[in-house]
Amino acid sequence: MHELSIAQALVDQVQKIAKESNSGKVIRITLRIGKLAGVDPEALSFAFPIAAEGTCLHSTLIEVISVEPELRCRACGKSVETEFVLACVHCGSKDLDLKQGRELMIESVEMEDLS
Ligand SMILES: [Zn+2]
Repeated sequence: MHELSIAQALVDQVQKIAKESNSGKVIRITLRIGKLAGVDPEALSFAFPIAAEGTCLHSTLIEVISVEPELRCRACGKSVETEFVLACVHCGSKDLDLKQGRELMIESVEMEDLS
């Protein structure tokens, strides 16, 4: 299961962050997942507790911000907000750059303050 290895990497990374900031429990992790990232947010939320078992993240909540794909046309510089276009809807150029929609990143980590 692809999402389980992502969840495991996420647990590792957040454990490191928690350790560096000398924090207690990790309350919530907010993730940004692009619709083209190839990650199913539901499967990831399901896999996370399995990966987090026995760590300080075992009761952490996962929140996912879904990022709509957005392309930018290199010819006219305008944004095109769909994943299915082959050419720019403004000028017809096929020189499109994927601006967002493929990200898989940690937006924020909320931790219990020990002080
Ligand atoms: Zn264009």
